[in-house]
Amino acid sequence: MTKLIACTAIVHFEAGAADAGREIQGDGQISRVQLAAATYLDGMKSRNPLEDMDVTFTLSAAARRSIQTLMLTAGVGVAGSVSAGAPAEVERYIELNHKITNGMQTYPGLSEADYYTVAPRFGNGALVDGIKLLGITGTYLDAPYHGDEHGMTIAEYPLERLVNVPIVVVNKPDSRQTFEVEDLKGLDVKGKAVMFASGHSDKFDTPEYANKPPYLSVESAQWLVDHGASMVGIDTPLVDNIDKNETIPVHHLLLEHKIIIIEDMTNLKALPKTGAYLTAVPPRLEMASFPARVFATVYK
Ligand SMILES: [Zn+2]
Repeated sequence: MTKLIACTAIVHFEAGAADAGREIQGDGQISRVQLAAATYLDGMKSRNPLEDMDVTFTLSAAARRSIQTLMLTAGVGVAGSVSAGAPAEVERYIELNHKITNGMQTYPGLSEADYYTVAPRFGNGALVDGIKLLGITGTYLDAPYHGDEHGMTIAEYPLERLVNVPIVVVNKPDSRQTFEVEDLKGLDVKGKAVMFASGHSDKFDTPEYANKPPYLSVESAQWLVDHGASMVGIDTPLVDNIDKNETIPVHHLLLEHKIIIIEDMTNLKALPKTGAYLTAVPPRLEMASFPARVFATVYK
């Protein structure tokens, strides 16, 4: 159940979230409330937005901060709704993308980055440089246009879908090449960035990168659709089977349901299981795929 209460602030509550029964001590006390996400705007003093939840307290800046901290600690939230109000303090950032270097290959045999300059350097000291690359270079996002000529492009992804999306990390046994439904069961992925961490990124830009990279089974992709995932990221060349790429059923399934795909990620093993937030913002290009600076934020 998700309950939306709006007055001078907008607050989302979700029963069944991970932090059932915890209490917050601020200027007041909130009990029996499970916080999924909250956006607090300034000036919310005229009305108690929580009266429907049978709790009474006055929201001061300190209380708002307590709620936001609990929400971040619990690792639950709704995509994009974490940033307003008193900003939470950042503990650290975790880099999740490959640096794009000259001559580097991402998709084996296909995407090679080519840097150039218009001149060695102008007389005034300025260097003007460029790069020739495919959209599927480095760590990049796929848009629905990748699988459907009428689908939206990278430029049309709204920032709400790309900034501060709560992360869930998925692991699998090394003995298996695919991520399966059994790796996902019990996880709350609704509105979240689901990161499939295999460790295969260690082989990036080597011939070994194309050798049996892990991917998602169609059943696990369907499970993500059914459970409302917002993003899917993986540290391999493809969410689909690279050795059977005459069809890409996982791409189609995810993109048709507007689940954002991020491929060729790295450093996913450095993520905490929950409690980190993903940001991946590419330039506004009318393309099927394009690289972004992709990173996680861990808040105090
Ligand atoms: Zn792709």
